[in-house]
Amino acid sequence: MKTIGHLINGTAKADAGRSQDVYNPSTGAVEKQVLLASKATVEEAIAAAQAAFPAWRNTPAQKRARIMFRFKELLEANADEICRLIGEEHGKISHDAMGELSRGIENVEYACGAPELLKGEHSRNVGPAIDSWSEFQPLGVVAGITPFNFPAMVPLWMYPMAIACGNTFVLKPSERDPSSTLFIAELLMEAGLPAGVLNVVNGDKEAVDTLLQDPRVQAVSFVGSTPIAEYIYTQASANGKRCQALGGAKNHAIVMPDADMDNAVSALTGAAFGSSGERCMALSVAVAVGDEAADALVSKMKAQMQSLKVGAFSDSSNDFGPVITRQHQEKVVGFINSAQEQGAEIVVDGRSPSVSGYENGFFVGGTLIDRVTPEMTCYQEEIFGPVLLVVRVDTMQQAMDLIDDHEYGNGTCIFTRDGEAARYFSDNILVGMVGINVPLPVPVAYHSFGGWKRSLFGDLHAYGPDAVRFYTRRKTITQRWPSAGVREGAQFAFPS
Ligand code: NAD
Repeated sequence: MKTIGHLINGTAKADAGRSQDVYNPSTGAVEKQVLLASKATVEEAIAAAQAAFPAWRNTPAQKRARIMFRFKELLEANADEICRLIGEEHGKISHDAMGELSRGIENVEYACGAPELLKGEHSRNVGPAIDSWSEFQPLGVVAGITPFNFPAMVPLWMYPMAIACGNTFVLKPSERDPSSTLFIAELLMEAGLPAGVLNVVNGDKEAVDTLLQDPRVQAVSFVGSTPIAEYIYTQASANGKRCQALGGAKNHAIVMPDADMDNAVSALTGAAFGSSGERCMALSVAVAVGDEAADALVSKMKAQMQSLKVGAFSDSSNDFGPVITRQHQEKVVGFINSAQEQGAEIVVDGRSPSVSGYENGFFVGGTLIDRVTPEMTCYQEEIFGPVLLVVRVDTMQQAMDLIDDHEYGNGTCIFTRDGEAARYFSDNILVGMVGINVPLPVPVAYHSFGGWKRSLFGDLHAYGPDAVRFYTRRKTITQRWPSAGVREGAQFAFPS
């Protein structure tokens, strides 16, 4: 059985100690083992990153960026292999894995602009013959901790920009699907990254806690579930580290009575069931305004869902694959059961899909639940499965209140033909990423990604311009070169 280890100081490392099964969710079989790094192994990675920092920090930004250009080419050349690795361990169908990788590559492209992004600010003559400027200097060793659902993209949100800014990095990927992440890191070494600048340690809480406690780690980027995000943010902050911790979501789409219903149904189908609903931007709640809109939505969704195809990652005719583990499959089914017990109507039931030849896979079929109310467990919690809830309200304001009252504020969307309503919605809704007739309003790489409320702990969003600020600290220098000795006596007040 293949064992997945770590990448420390430019070389593969395997420590003897704890390990964990890695499943192929399509077959349900254990095909690999991942090593779980001990405290000592993580400390070795931090030490390698610390040692690599002085030379890397002083490497010209343009030379750092050239490595990113080569990295991008290698990612494109190895795309099929990366997507296969994602599919094997995550279950994502290849077209979906390719979409994930493309979004990751866009972040590498953005990092190629580091020399431009790091130019700083300059003011001449802030006083007589006095100049002042701000530089954006790297922090040192930075850590990234990432979730299972985007094993290629989310790490690429983090380390290309962090490294291009002159930091060194220790990445702790999800232990559930680590192979594509490790393979991609090896490609960056092949692109010419010096040893120690990027290190990957596989592991669990022991590895994470070591990163949170070690004083050499200056900053932590985290993406995952909200309880862990809150823990990471609290611990990292208490230990004096800069931290951004992105958490879970419950993304609502408002369907207005004037919406183009066929388009809304197509958009919702992709956004609710794509990637088995295991996306932090998945639309998991449709809020229909008025019973007429709700009835039309439910009947059209039901019809559209007849052709949804769930199955193994290796068959590209499937729309989506399995969920990540047996335990998660049972959790998703448990949410559907609870909806039924609490009085909702199961319109399309995906609890027992038949996937011929893959009877042991972790599959849940597309599920549509109508007449959901805010008190229900399925409404309050993030399901992270292929389940779309329909909530019926009478007015747009009631729909907006529902969204604002929810603990999460990652993404949202409105389907309407009314520009005034759309503008009011985007202006006032308490959510970080808003779509207007766009179901998955994931910002492009040159904007930044982040939710509000309990979907993000910290100040700066992920990737894009916010990442440049997160991975650097401002230093402001004021200079004067007196031409002939001291011209003024001591001054005891600010110059006016
Ligand atoms: P998770 O929180 O279980 O794990 C994320 C990371 O934290 C992993 O690397 C894991 O090893 C580590 N971790 C888990 N438990 C820990 C503990 N007790 N102490 C320390 N570290 C721990 O999340 P997941 O199941 O891998 O990913 C799915 C979640 O991530 C969903 O809630 C989803 O909404 C969220 N997510 C959010 C975004 C976003 O941008 N906001 C993006 C992707 C995923």
